[in-house]
Amino acid sequence: MAWRVAKSLLQLREQINESAPDRSKASDGTIGDAAHASHQSDHNPWIQDGGIGVVTAIDITNDPSGKCDAERIVQALVQSRDLRIKYIIWNRRIISASVQPWVWRDYSGKNPHTQHFHLSVVRDKTLFDSTNSKWSISSTGP
Ligand SMILES: [Zn+2]
Repeated sequence: MAWRVAKSLLQLREQINESAPDRSKASDGTIGDAAHASHQSDHNPWIQDGGIGVVTAIDITNDPSGKCDAERIVQALVQSRDLRIKYIIWNRRIISASVQPWVWRDYSGKNPHTQHFHLSVVRDKTLFDSTNSKWSISSTGP
């Protein structure tokens, strides 16, 4: 089946690649692998747009020495409360825009998400394909 990645997620990955051109991509991902496909995951292209499946989740490798510090990026994303965010999983915790909004909760999934962070975007096309505003990926400091 034909599939593509939500444009907002491609924009995020581009921004991260620009700020960290030599980062590791060992744990990057968009479309679901066999493990993902067996259960409901936004890595599966389950949203239909004109007969094409849309993947609405991305994994970005944590590589602090390659200038891609997942902790810092995730904090900036959470601070921004970007309307495109559905939820983020990072380092055994999950934070959602709708379920207990913006409160970190323990995450006990099979993959602890210590090698990468996971970002899902909302299923509204005007948001998941929105590239009008840049993602906030670096915190502005204290
Ligand atoms: Zn993921």
